[in-house]
Amino acid sequence: MSEHKYEKWIQKDNVVIDGIDISGEWNKMYEPREITEYDITGLENVRDLAGGESMGWCYQCAQCIGVCPVDNVGSYGPRKIYRKLQTGMDLFTHDDLWMCTTCSNCLRVCPKEVDMMKIMPAVREQAVLNGNVPAELQEMLQNVAEYGNPMGDSARKRVKWMKKFDEPVRDLSKEDNPQPVDVLWYVSDYFSFHGRGNDAAKSMVRVFNRLNIDFGILGKEEKCDGDSQRLVGETGLFEELAEHNGAQFDKYEHNKLVVSDPHAYNAFKNFYPKVTKKEYNVEHYTQFLAERIDDISALMKRPFPKKVTFHDPCYLGRHNGEYEAPRTLLKAVPGIEFGEMFRCKEQGYCCGGGGGGMWLDGLVADHTTERLSENRVKEAIEVGAEVLAVCCPYEVSRFEDAIKSTNNDGKLVVMDIIEILDYCMGNDDAEA
Ligand code: SF4
Ligand code: SF4
Repeated sequence: MSEHKYEKWIQKDNVVIDGIDISGEWNKMYEPREITEYDITGLENVRDLAGGESMGWCYQCAQCIGVCPVDNVGSYGPRKIYRKLQTGMDLFTHDDLWMCTTCSNCLRVCPKEVDMMKIMPAVREQAVLNGNVPAELQEMLQNVAEYGNPMGDSARKRVKWMKKFDEPVRDLSKEDNPQPVDVLWYVSDYFSFHGRGNDAAKSMVRVFNRLNIDFGILGKEEKCDGDSQRLVGETGLFEELAEHNGAQFDKYEHNKLVVSDPHAYNAFKNFYPKVTKKEYNVEHYTQFLAERIDDISALMKRPFPKKVTFHDPCYLGRHNGEYEAPRTLLKAVPGIEFGEMFRCKEQGYCCGGGGGGMWLDGLVADHTTERLSENRVKEAIEVGAEVLAVCCPYEVSRFEDAIKSTNNDGKLVVMDIIEILDYCMGNDDAEA
């Protein structure tokens, strides 16, 4: 046996097995390496948290890495985090803590069910308690705590988008004796406060009115749904928001809650019941409208002769299994040439806005070669799309910024599906 300066491997000089010569280098073997040689305190600290247990189940198969959208533009993913934790990383203070968008693509393929959707909020909750929060995120959290929305606008401004807007909308918060509505529409922050969100909110009202939907909104009584705040570890703030919004849902008699935002959908369907102890009859607007596709088709007066592709929101698709409702609506649009991107449905690519990513572009940029939204916009262009259709309020602004930053102005337009329906029903403001 040869002696080598590297203690950890051995090789035999003369070995022949079944007539095959595997002498020297060909039979080199490493001695079993004990993981206890490393300081695994970092791993233990994550694993010991309620919610963090599955971090310890990783067996390094690397299936997650190929599907992680952050690894696609950098170096990331559960396997890499596990390895770093085994070799001394303190995730509680490391930037890796904030780069996961909780898109759930790794969990989809992980044979050991390592669940970043539980691990990340659990570790982040401790980081928040210790005051280790990136500044850009801290500002958003303060705004939500103080004003009920991430923008830091006053509650009264939540309905500013309805000024000089002629369509009837029942603002239940302004009615002295509010009568029941069939649909309570949760408008959401970006539809209420962001310019492009306002466009989509107006389209929603026009489409609802053309369909004779009996609907009302919470107006200044609506607050942020809290799902992103939950995912960045602000559990207390999430619970406050759930209690507040839950009380508004109780206050106004309605049959169904319809939401503009997949994050709100996820919160009301899966996480509010844990706080309020009530179940909500909630639908994303694409689901609600897909059930009325015949009425919608009858109202579409003009074609939309464009090449359109669709970006699946992680929190409607992978998190809640809804892939068909948005496609049902798009495929009913007259004249449309619909085509999928390479990464779609279960394998859809994340826009980068989930899990707090909406407010972490600065930190993420330090560790990635491009934004996830930029990567996605390039894919839409690659498949020949003229219009990138979305149905999450985060996405219009993210993708419009990405079109500019990748110098693709004029090549691709981003529209919420509701704007496309509104255009086909005759509204010129909604044109691509
Ligand atoms: S897929 Fe799961 S088990 Fe495999 S490396 Fe990733 S986290 Fe570990
Ligand atoms: S949830 Fe998404 S972003 Fe986070 S590690 Fe898994 S694949 Fe990557």
